[in-house]
Amino acid sequence: MDLKQFRNPEIVKNLLRDIHTYKEPIKIMEVCGSHTMAIGHWGIRKLLPDNIQLISGPGCPVCVTPSSLIDLMSGLKGISIYTFGDLIRVPGNNGSLEEARSRGADISIVYSPLEALKNAEKNETVFVGIGFETTIPGIAYTILEAHRRKLTNFSVMPAFKTVPPALKAILSSQDIQLDGFLLPGHVSVILGEEDYSFLVTDFNIGGIICGFEPIDILLGIKQLIDQKKNNLPQIDNEYKRVVSVRGNQTAKMIINKVLQPIDAVWRGLGTIPSSGLGIRREYLDFDASHKYGLEITDNEKESGCRCGDVLRGKIIPTGCPLFAKTCNPSNPIGPCMVSSEGSCAAYFKYER
Ligand code: SF4
Repeated sequence: MDLKQFRNPEIVKNLLRDIHTYKEPIKIMEVCGSHTMAIGHWGIRKLLPDNIQLISGPGCPVCVTPSSLIDLMSGLKGISIYTFGDLIRVPGNNGSLEEARSRGADISIVYSPLEALKNAEKNETVFVGIGFETTIPGIAYTILEAHRRKLTNFSVMPAFKTVPPALKAILSSQDIQLDGFLLPGHVSVILGEEDYSFLVTDFNIGGIICGFEPIDILLGIKQLIDQKKNNLPQIDNEYKRVVSVRGNQTAKMIINKVLQPIDAVWRGLGTIPSSGLGIRREYLDFDASHKYGLEITDNEKESGCRCGDVLRGKIIPTGCPLFAKTCNPSNPIGPCMVSSEGSCAAYFKYER
């Protein structure tokens, strides 16, 4: 597929002309951190009229990871810890995993959880299981593989999150009044369209599943404007080239085989019922929380960081008094400035 067609300047101009004819205020949440980055990268926020407000949501897995997970992982002694890259710089209450590594902890970055299995053939190994629906199937598959190989040295610390319960929590809290969602592209590859139907039935609010090119995002905004104009909220799929109605059934099957819904702690959002996934009884030997008696809590040291308000859409990153002053990508105070999908990092890079 030639992506240039999704960057065609004439189509961009036509879409912007249509969008600018709408004069009512409209507040749209882009749920996914990759959308926040794409919106900044393409300069879309600056092209929109003032009545259209795009606010970032909780869809950055590193940003919603509570400090206590970092503390628990850096506290494990004599065990090899494997993690995805962004997490290593996220501050915990006692420093980051990177700092723990500089003090001698055995912490490695991997691109695939399967890489950790090689180490588990020799040493006690824990993989830090963070992420949304996009990364969860690969980690669940790794547990199945460890089970098949009868590994006794491997476990996963389950800190998974699922997107729909977080959207439910944001809408139920009534902290902000939203008019629609730009729904995450990658997560929806797994979920499909159907899992978002509660937005319309329970909250009377619509959403568009979007890709990450400028025309994807502008089409999503225009469709949400049309829904609002016609008072017809619905779930539309602008990203049909990748996202199907029912999602990836194989990935869902693997998730359901290994994991089950549990309440989960989100940094800044607290505990959200059934918004996480724990490891099923059949695979408990591979559950690091069970093996080492670890519990994730919402214990956050006061640092002045307002990631929680950013993730709930209550403020935009520039509304944090620390933004670009004491907090910047070289010296991140909170996770939203660390991650390549973090709202504060996106605003620092593109929106100042
Ligand atoms: Fe937290 Fe820094 Fe973002 Fe402020 S600018 S909310 S301190 S990450």
